[in-house]
Amino acid sequence: MNAVKEKNPPAYLVDKLTFNEKVERSLALIENAYHEFGDALVVANSLGKDSVAVWHLAKRVSPAIRGFIVTTRFKPKETKEFMKEQIRAYPELRVYQNDDKIPEDLYNTDPDRCCELLKVKPTRWAIEEMNVSCWVTGLRCTEGRTRTDYKEVEQRDLELVKLNPILLWKEREVWQYLALYNVEVNPLYARGYRSLGCEPCTRITTDDNERAGRWVGTSKCGGECGIHTRPLKA
Ligand code: SF4
Repeated sequence: MNAVKEKNPPAYLVDKLTFNEKVERSLALIENAYHEFGDALVVANSLGKDSVAVWHLAKRVSPAIRGFIVTTRFKPKETKEFMKEQIRAYPELRVYQNDDKIPEDLYNTDPDRCCELLKVKPTRWAIEEMNVSCWVTGLRCTEGRTRTDYKEVEQRDLELVKLNPILLWKEREVWQYLALYNVEVNPLYARGYRSLGCEPCTRITTDDNERAGRWVGTSKCGGECGIHTRPLKA
């Protein structure tokens, strides 16, 4: 992806580009990558606001683009219900879940291990089973302290490119896009949540850091589950 790689953005573009310019840029990134990777380009849909925006953008590029959802036994019931609706609307979304037996309170005693087993491992399954060479995410550089250094196009694993097409979008621009296209979102947002994860590890936050409500009270607070930081492909 040499042509796209050169577009890795300077941070000032977050404030400089208009909403419309960002949308066009995101569509172009997906379109170029889809042209290069075809069916090996797959969207990782976490069912959060950013993911559903990216999913919508991808479907504008091509209705044939596939996606996967990684879910866990600990997702809130609203998220599980929303997932069922999304799968009904988009049967091409495949669901991955690790049902292995783990200690009941692993999210308390070792949240990194819990995320590794319940989130990272099934993401690896999806990447392998769906023959993914380019996965597309809803990661944004203004979400929180751990997300400032990502690029629009990255390659952390051999033979696996990661595309972050809405990297430059602000939180309000995501909502602007979803409102503009009347995209359905998880009902938990109406209750004040801003970043959604598993039920025991997600709180409502009013912090500037959008992800500050994740893993509250642990060393992982406002951090990452691991899918963006750990190897995904052998
Ligand atoms: S978010 Fe919490 S419950 Fe979910 S996998 Fe990670 S530690 Fe476990």
